[in-house]
Amino acid sequence: MGNLHLIDHPLIQHKLTLMRQKDVSTNGFRQLLAEISMLMTYEVLRDIPLHEIEIDTPLESTTGAVIDGKKLVFVSILRAGSGILEGMLSVVPSARVGHIGLYRDPKTLVAVEYYFKLPSDLAERDVVVVDPMLATGNSAVAAIDRIKEYRPRSIKFVCLLTCPEGVAAMQAAHPEVPIYTAALDRRLDEHGYIVPGLGDAGDRIFGTK
Ligand code: URA
Repeated sequence: MGNLHLIDHPLIQHKLTLMRQKDVSTNGFRQLLAEISMLMTYEVLRDIPLHEIEIDTPLESTTGAVIDGKKLVFVSILRAGSGILEGMLSVVPSARVGHIGLYRDPKTLVAVEYYFKLPSDLAERDVVVVDPMLATGNSAVAAIDRIKEYRPRSIKFVCLLTCPEGVAAMQAAHPEVPIYTAALDRRLDEHGYIVPGLGDAGDRIFGTK
């Protein structure tokens, strides 16, 4: 499916199966999401640039390769994006962070923006947009529309779960943006939920239901 990257490492599949179960505690769900996000980051950032620096080991001077974390911007789509953000920041703590507040109108499922804050100089930075559920695709498409106004060097999108409808919406609007996911579920239901899915990711992360 074009630009779709399914990250199906056994550890990720195992943790995702635990998360999907309806009786997992709020804390357990949040921890598993952070762990999966950490593991997914290895694959998402596989192609980021490295540069050489001079270092001294206890034995001699040499050179080593490092990333420039400050050139990375993780943009969390509020509120559920925070769950992925935490895991990604634990492996790239120097990354910059942006937030986009979008809620789904429950009737129309259209994304409505209520908050927008990104780091400056996006033209020199690589953006990774995060939201656990790529469902209708409305929020992801709207977030990337807005981010593109600032002309970042590149954009990737990371979710935990998606479905054919979400992938199609993203690929129609932003075909050049790669999508990284841990699972491609069967379909979207009439309320805009992914099935089999895991329910409302925000409610499960924050214990609001
Ligand atoms: N958002 C969620 O939290 N869950 C879904 O299944 C779809 C969108």
